[in-house]
Amino acid sequence: MPIQSINPASGTVLRTFEPLTDEAARLKIGTAFEAFRQYQEIPLEHRALWMRKLAGILEDEVDELATLLTTEMGKPIHAARQEVLKCASVCRYYAANAARILEDEPIETETGNSYVRWDPLGVVLAVMPWNFPFWQVFRFAAPALMAGNVALLKHASNVPQCALTLESLIRRAGFPRGTFQTMLIESRQVEVVLADERVAAVTVTGSETAGRAVAAQAGWLVKKSVLELGGSDPFIVMPSADLDLAIETAVKARCVNNGQSCIAAKRFIVADEIYEEFETRFVAGMEAMRVGDPMKEDTDIGPLATKRLVDELEKQVQGATLAGARILCGGERMLGEGNFFEPTVLTGLPRTASVYRDEIFGPVALLFRAHTLEEAIEIANDTPFGLAASVWTSVPAEQTKLIAELQCGAVFVNAMVASDPRLPFGGIKKSGYGRELSAAGMREFLNAKTVVIS
Ligand code: NDP
Repeated sequence: MPIQSINPASGTVLRTFEPLTDEAARLKIGTAFEAFRQYQEIPLEHRALWMRKLAGILEDEVDELATLLTTEMGKPIHAARQEVLKCASVCRYYAANAARILEDEPIETETGNSYVRWDPLGVVLAVMPWNFPFWQVFRFAAPALMAGNVALLKHASNVPQCALTLESLIRRAGFPRGTFQTMLIESRQVEVVLADERVAAVTVTGSETAGRAVAAQAGWLVKKSVLELGGSDPFIVMPSADLDLAIETAVKARCVNNGQSCIAAKRFIVADEIYEEFETRFVAGMEAMRVGDPMKEDTDIGPLATKRLVDELEKQVQGATLAGARILCGGERMLGEGNFFEPTVLTGLPRTASVYRDEIFGPVALLFRAHTLEEAIEIANDTPFGLAASVWTSVPAEQTKLIAELQCGAVFVNAMVASDPRLPFGGIKKSGYGRELSAAGMREFLNAKTVVIS
């Protein structure tokens, strides 16, 4: 099947690529493997220099790059610019902090000298999604390259131009040939690449289905894997919350990236006392979102990335209403060109409905009423996922309880969940395992080598 770049706002086919043959993919693995031998010896200062150069290129070319992101996957242009600049920030973070993270760690024992040193693993395969076509790749690649690993990227099939641009940016920054290569391959070929003994490890960001398939093979091959999969993050609002800020943030947190983010708030769990007011004002906020041409500066929500995603979202909304949910606003795909869907709020979805257990990837919010804090926590944890949570309360005892009892990889109190190069990012349960970003993310693909010299 050819790999196509299609503008989701118009349906226009922008470019078509033939996937690599298995043989061509193996050649790239060979190039990566050879590159690793030399690259791991390159002093950290050189890698940091290239990383800073890369940050500079991203900053200088932010407008062109943002236009590419928007035309290929539909995010609003202002969000695309933010994404490109955030990639520059992760490059600068690791350029500045890698030496500290990679430093030998002395450990006191009876022997004279014992410590841990951090060695790179080698060729790491990255299976990446289209929703943040630059950021998802950079947050893996910046620490991997700084640590001396080399990378092979299998990007999502709907963002081939972003994928090729990423390789070219990294080369232009000065990183040696073979240290980062894009492979335009189909998802079925991931198996071939991972099976190659020259590939040491794999990271996957995407759906549970993709993560499960790749991790099963990695487990069989005894290769390290990191999974960053879906989320159905709760957004809990208690009576003491600053309601104006909570509602404004709730709308933003649901609609970020046209609703297609693993850490978007998806289930809004609101205390009984403030439920009616929250519902009325939240629905008004969702209805006020401007849906349209993602190239326009004032657009809040662009098209979903592919037609398949709109079909899937439509099915989920229909499934929810059949199960008993009520539509408070939206609920339909939008007529005309492009993959547009109305900002939608649903209430009354029974937790026994199958769609309740899905990740909803689009501007569709689910509202729930909680009579007590305990019930709010119980609803929040009643999901297969465990990525992150946003909780709104000014009562310290409630904050403490929520932080301790929510089953997820991150709790943000009175704030929207967001990734940050300095903070570990990742989930538990079906949201995956391992961490990205910070020191923890860099160490996922390192060998913590114990050294004892007596
Ligand atoms: P996928 O998980 O299918 O795609 C993510 C990446 O995995 C792509 O590179 C894809 O390649 C690859 N892939 C898919 N299946 C396999 C497989 N069996 N073996 C190896 N690689 C595979 O996401 P979709 O685009 O299909 O989106 C479906 C749903 O996944 C969304 O509705 C959302 O719920 C969730 N999702 C979550 C993301 C997140 O950030 N957590 C990001 C994207 C999706 P290819 O494109 O060639 O199929």
